[in-house]
Amino acid sequence: MLRTDILPEVLKDSSCFVSQLQRLWLEKARSFADAIPIAEIIAADAENKFRRDLFERACKEGFGALPFPSTYGGSGGDYLSFCLVNEEFGRRCVPIMSSLGVHVLCQEPVFRFGSEEQKQKYLPRSASGEYLAAFGLTEPNAGSDTAAISTSAVSAGSHFLLNGTNTFITSGGAADYYIVMAKLSAAGASAQDLPRGSSEKTITAFVVEREFPGFEIGQKFDMLGMRGYATCELVFNDCRVPAENLLAQAGMGRKVALSSLAKGRVTIAAQATGWAQGALDAIVVHLREAEANGCPSGALAYLVGDLSMLVESARVLTYQAASAIDRGESDVTLAAMAKIQATDAAMRLSTEAVSILGSRGLASNLLVERIFRDAKAGQIYEGTNQIQRMLIARRYQSK
Ligand SMILES: Cc1cc2nc3c(=O)[nH]c(=O)nc-3n(C[C@H](O)[C@H](O)[C@H](O)COP(=O)(O)OP(=O)(O)OC[C@H]3O[C@@H](n4cnc5c(N)ncnc54)[C@H](O)[C@@H]3O)c2cc1C
Repeated sequence: MLRTDILPEVLKDSSCFVSQLQRLWLEKARSFADAIPIAEIIAADAENKFRRDLFERACKEGFGALPFPSTYGGSGGDYLSFCLVNEEFGRRCVPIMSSLGVHVLCQEPVFRFGSEEQKQKYLPRSASGEYLAAFGLTEPNAGSDTAAISTSAVSAGSHFLLNGTNTFITSGGAADYYIVMAKLSAAGASAQDLPRGSSEKTITAFVVEREFPGFEIGQKFDMLGMRGYATCELVFNDCRVPAENLLAQAGMGRKVALSSLAKGRVTIAAQATGWAQGALDAIVVHLREAEANGCPSGALAYLVGDLSMLVESARVLTYQAASAIDRGESDVTLAAMAKIQATDAAMRLSTEAVSILGSRGLASNLLVERIFRDAKAGQIYEGTNQIQRMLIARRYQSK
């Protein structure tokens, strides 16, 4: 008979990867995730409704700013701990998982590049859950090619005027502030603010608050997967952003965005490892029940072996990438590898799970069809897996 207790999570049980403190975060996240009734998880997805209350509860548990120091209200944990939390949230399809990942991604540039005033204003409120953050980079005509963004910013003395549209923004409809990339136009900017050279260098990051005049929420998306995250368009119509809300320096937006996304991809890898684990758990439970009912599942044992290896490989790369962040050696290539391996594993595992479970796999209560839909989105967002593969290849080509 197949046993759920020895097949999965080999690596998590290995103390050389997960310390006692990290395990505490894991267990806390597991309790939080498992306490959410399955009906609530299904409802958030079916109704495409963001659970702000659950996000605030997660923040009270210390998940909202887990990898940031207590000076700014954070929990002082490391990135691997945050990944373990995300893995547990992925396994159980916790309805606020993706918003939490993006929320931490947005705090990163404020923490790393922000002024002391910006840190004091945004970080403690983000940690407590008073503020929810979202990240605005993708535009209708600029997805993979981030250099093609056309949202513009023009300096008008004490403030900037932003014009343009962001699309497919996680938490867009629910957030309180947004890290937004815009091209600072030479026409209005004070000359000393603008670096010379390519237009990429004029990409500048801003912190835009929901209440700023000229900011509007646009179309809300009703997608195949990643539902319940208030994903929508953001419209900037002469949006008035105070000068002090420029993040880092003029022209540093690309650096701000890419360094945040490099960490964000590791978070996604952790979430997807959780999805893959959730699908594997469902397969193992199903085969165990089949055996108990007199249907031998031995012929599928080789497949379970293969699938377990896929989950563990995703986990190894994810933990390696998270550990690199914790050593201060955040690695874009490793993050890309982890994101690809984990989201592709989640796609494969959930596809196999739906097939093996048959019609039961298509029902919402076992979460495998949900994982199947979310994993597809996971292969696309924060840089498609195709683009990530090209990014990895570039590293080897440049040697
Ligand atoms: C659920 C979800 C949440 C999201 N959340 C956010 C968010 O919070 N903030 C945000 O800014 N964005 C967000 N996005 C947008 C996401 O980051 C983009 O969808 C992604 O970067 C891909 O861009 P695109 O959809 O425009 O696809 P495109 O760039 O148009 O790509 C389409 C296809 O062409 C391929 N392709 C593109 N360029 C090349 C090339 N040069 N060579 C070879 N192949 C190429 C791609 O791999 C892909 O297969 C989200 C998307 C989704 C689905």
